[in-house]
Amino acid sequence: TFMEVAKEALRHASANHERTAIISDQKSYSYAQIVASALDISNILSNKWIENMHHSCEAGNSPVEDINGKSSLHGTRVGIVAKPSPEFVAGILGTWLSGGVAVPIALSYPEAEILHVMNDSDISIILSTQEHQEVMENVAAKCSARLSLLPAVTSMTPKKDPDELSETKLTTSTSALVAKLDESRKDAGDDPALILYTSGTTGKPKGVVHTHRSIISQVQILTEAWEYTIADQFLHCLPLHHVHGLFNALLAPLYAGSVVEFMPKFSVRGVWQRWRESYPKDGSKADDAITLFTGVPTMYTRLLQGYEAMDPDLQAASASAANHLRLMMCGSSALPYPIMKQWEEITGHRLLERYGMTEFVMALSNPLHGIRKGGTVGKPLPRVEVKIITEDGSETTTGVGELCVRSPSLFKEYWKQPEITKASFIDGGFFKTGDTVTVDEDSYYIILGRTNADIMKVGGYKLSALEIEAVILEHEAVSECCVLGLPDKDYGEVVCAIIVPQEEAKKKAEQELKPALSLEELRSWSTERLAPYKIPTRLFLWDSLPRNAMGKVNKKELKKLLAGES
Ligand code: ATP
Ligand code: MG
Repeated sequence: TFMEVAKEALRHASANHERTAIISDQKSYSYAQIVASALDISNILSNKWIENMHHSCEAGNSPVEDINGKSSLHGTRVGIVAKPSPEFVAGILGTWLSGGVAVPIALSYPEAEILHVMNDSDISIILSTQEHQEVMENVAAKCSARLSLLPAVTSMTPKKDPDELSETKLTTSTSALVAKLDESRKDAGDDPALILYTSGTTGKPKGVVHTHRSIISQVQILTEAWEYTIADQFLHCLPLHHVHGLFNALLAPLYAGSVVEFMPKFSVRGVWQRWRESYPKDGSKADDAITLFTGVPTMYTRLLQGYEAMDPDLQAASASAANHLRLMMCGSSALPYPIMKQWEEITGHRLLERYGMTEFVMALSNPLHGIRKGGTVGKPLPRVEVKIITEDGSETTTGVGELCVRSPSLFKEYWKQPEITKASFIDGGFFKTGDTVTVDEDSYYIILGRTNADIMKVGGYKLSALEIEAVILEHEAVSECCVLGLPDKDYGEVVCAIIVPQEEAKKKAEQELKPALSLEELRSWSTERLAPYKIPTRLFLWDSLPRNAMGKVNKKELKKLLAGES
């Protein structure tokens, strides 16, 4: 059904007007305030649409008409360019209320990328905020879209004036909203609601179209699996133009009535500090205590580095505070085992690793209750079905093959790419992920990597780069690592490792005038732990790995770069 996330937000608003939905810049915003602002935005959008229609009439284009012959925003793409904020949340809900298709766009993209997304998805209206006005005016002009500034959401000021958020204001907006929701067509569930661009790890980002139905089913799946409730408070440090930040840490918690606290720029100190404030040393729990956290693996790596730099007292306070959170999750790329182990030693938390993709959001997860196995991504989430298909097209329940997923949250299509959409499905409506996987003895899934970037072919063997990375990362001189296959006349491909050394190892090596890690050392380390054909034959020592907004390394690009160098 249509608009369930907004309906739930409304329910939380009417259950308790003052229930906090969002915390941002130390200000609190209630569900009622977010909903009221979403309604305003939906009205602004409808007016803009009418303006737009006049505009296109003048330009000689015929205006789009609703099936009822009524003008409406239905299906119009609305770009949302704003940092994680109450305005972003009201913007996306308001777009959905007006029947529009939300296209969240990364602020961190260079203008050319923003323009690519804007043009690719034919955005007619851009919602942004004052701080980006200048840049966005420029962008809007270049892609002939109309820019609308998101009105600032009013925050709660409970101490100054407890009646500020008057009952009347909410009642009007509630009834208006209910009327709006009822007005919307009952069968709108399969209408597009969202276009998200993939991370672009393997090529140009593809527009993935989600419907109201796929969104709400995912939000329900996550709420059920991880038991989000009104007692939860999420510390949110991820961008909102990818599923991890948008679904796992925003839409699902809002559906559940939790509080989402934004930290738009992930700060290692800031995160540790918020945890310490939540659970002070005296054993108490703050009213606004953080209970949930999720991050990409590199965030946990950085948090561990930050922890190591603290003095012992602060370390003790930080570790004990972190221990009190209800749940810490990780995903978007493989969680290195040493990081998981170290995290558990320090905080007592076994990170819950899960596996997802823009195309179906989350599919596999380690359990909330029960055994979380390192190096695996657990089992299918509720209502999700998976299959492993081998190269010859047959199904295997124990072997290695491509993971295929069927879920109520599957996307509708790749935007304007019908052939690619068609080629991505097999019989029975299972989506081909392009990821190679296997299962362990307890039917927990293990991601071996992307078939076309992480699976290397060396002298007739097929190897998983992720498996080799995991072994190398255990070496004490190694901080980060990326393994890939480079073309080779004799073997097809050879195993190449790019390593970012640990700071300590780097300093020591500088003093001793030798590299932080030699190929010889790496090979002898690997020999004890890997089959001979998996041992790297080439090594690069770099200061950092080029990662995209989701902390992922584009191996295809790197391969091209390195193949060109050699
Ligand atoms: P593009 O499709 O543009 O190349 P992308 O696939 O990185 O980019 P996303 O949809 O954001 O874009 O990422 C999905 C991919 O992330 C999965 O296909 C998988 O390869 C990887 N991934 C997600 N979670 C995990 C995990 N826990 N372990 C290993 N890989 C993961
Ligand atoms: Mg992908």
